[in-house]
Amino acid sequence: MSTCIFCDIITGKAPAKIVYRDERAVAFYDRAPRAPVHVLVVPVEHINSLHDLKPEHESLAGHLLLVAQHIAEQENIGNSGYRVIINTGRAAGQVVFHVHLHILGGGPMKHPMG
Ligand code: 5GP
Ligand code: ZN
Repeated sequence: MSTCIFCDIITGKAPAKIVYRDERAVAFYDRAPRAPVHVLVVPVEHINSLHDLKPEHESLAGHLLLVAQHIAEQENIGNSGYRVIINTGRAAGQVVFHVHLHILGGGPMKHPMG
């Protein structure tokens, strides 16, 4: 039995508005959007967090960034600008332990540091 909500979304067991899919990555709208555009990009392979990436994931990690760029174009925020966030670990606010990139855009944002 799967206990990962993002694995369930990838396999279609759980619903989500999927906006992109290829053999290595899936992207879908966040269910609680924090910006006018808020998409999550996840690898098909279950990896708990950025901190669990291994050298063999180097190509996959780059692919996820290019998918993020593709989604930004698809969502028409490529020119206005967007932010990509990877919360890593509980202290950073990670609540779903299947690594994911947040793509946020479509409106002005405050600087996030500190
Ligand atoms: P984290 O805090 O782990 O970086 O972000 C997890 C994100 O996943 C949150 O923004 C949350 O709204 C989103 N999320 C959690 N469960 C679901 C779900 O079942 N469906 C969708 N579409 N998003 C989810
Ligand atoms: Zn998973």
